[in-house]
Amino acid sequence: MDRIKHAEEIARKAHAGQFRKTGEPYIVHPMAVKKILEEWGMDEDTIIAGILHDTVEDTGLTLKDIEKEFGESVAFLVDGVTKLGVARNGMRDLDTYLPETKDNFLRLMVALGADIRVLIIKLADRLHNIRTLSALPPDKQKKIAKETLEVFAPLADRLNMGLLRVELADLSFKYVDPKRYDYLKELIARYNKSAARSMKKIEEEVSNALKKEKIKFSISGRVKSVYSLHKKLAKHDQNINEIYDLTALRIIVDDVTTCYLVLGIVHSLYTPMNGRIKDYIAMPKQNGYQSLHTTVITKDKHIVEFQIRTKEMHEFAERGLAASFYYNEQKLTENYKKGKIEHLPTNLLWITELQMTAAKLREGKKVDLKKLKLNLFADRIFVYTPKGDILDLPQGALPLDFAYRLHSEIGDHVVGVKINGKMSNLNKKLEHGDVVEILTSKNQIPKTSWLDKIITPHARSKILHSLNSRNK
Ligand code: MN
Repeated sequence: MDRIKHAEEIARKAHAGQFRKTGEPYIVHPMAVKKILEEWGMDEDTIIAGILHDTVEDTGLTLKDIEKEFGESVAFLVDGVTKLGVARNGMRDLDTYLPETKDNFLRLMVALGADIRVLIIKLADRLHNIRTLSALPPDKQKKIAKETLEVFAPLADRLNMGLLRVELADLSFKYVDPKRYDYLKELIARYNKSAARSMKKIEEEVSNALKKEKIKFSISGRVKSVYSLHKKLAKHDQNINEIYDLTALRIIVDDVTTCYLVLGIVHSLYTPMNGRIKDYIAMPKQNGYQSLHTTVITKDKHIVEFQIRTKEMHEFAERGLAASFYYNEQKLTENYKKGKIEHLPTNLLWITELQMTAAKLREGKKVDLKKLKLNLFADRIFVYTPKGDILDLPQGALPLDFAYRLHSEIGDHVVGVKINGKMSNLNKKLEHGDVVEILTSKNQIPKTSWLDKIITPHARSKILHSLNSRNK
């Protein structure tokens, strides 16, 4: 508490005399960022860095001052946030955000890759800025809102920070397309109102059935967000009748076994719709989201989606990476400095890749930026070894990417691949759910042509390494 109070005093002094566009004293902003980070359950260093995040760029305070007062770790985080800010300046529009402006992109990469907590502070910063966006002139509003919708909300999704994703997306969608926003918001409100009474009845029926089985649970309605409805309607030719999850009931229980038990009870009460049972517990979404989903038709012909999950799954679905920080107390900065790459859950392996890339950039090594952009924003697929181990790869990954992810010794000796039990070839793109068996031979050595048969930076660096050492 003393360190946090101390940081507040220093920030207050540093920002004295500065004002936000809203007319408030500037300190309101870092204090709001602090509050958000506290709500996310972040560690003390991150909260302190949040309080100080704008001081180096906008006030006389230096990184040296911060390091002296709060230590290396806080200074490291503030530096990252500052670099991220600098990297964004000069990116006039989204088209130049990532691919071409190499210097900016390098800085962005180094800042992001250094410590994922930098990104979390940046997301908290953006959340407060978007909450107070109305104070800016309309052209700036649109620009920032568009950037938030296209870059920051997807990032929040990648980190499985569901609450944040919804708030960022809905707040910025309001500025990007105000008419559409109002229309959909009204539509959702009307639908919920008309469904309210039958939903209450369904909730009671299910609650009674669960109580009979002596199951401990909590149940609540979940309202669909405006932006996700907008996206879903686009997928279904604007046909609202094809959207089955406008209203959903969420049931939260203590353990995984009970989730399946509850699913059975729901299905004994109502008719499940064909093909609408989704087991994201056994097969988590790419960002790690876990839950059972089922859409049922009630006796009164109401269509309702049920989402059934444990408390832990719910916590992770709403707070994502922030939640896992809270539980694991990961100290990425320390490990990063020791040269260790942090072991994150498989679904967040792309962060590890980012960190490895950043480490290379710092050592002055060349990195293929086009490939990186793909890694950061493309979706991930899950594929399996014949023994059932799950590997997480970027979409478009090829068998050699898979082989090198397993082990460079396996990668170096690939002679062929079986996909789902059938012989295939090294140019075949892997698909979500594929079972991939790599065939090797002791006599095989890596070839230069392999560089065209991979898309991950990991495989690329392993192949180059092998080629170089053999050339020597
Ligand atoms: Mn800020």
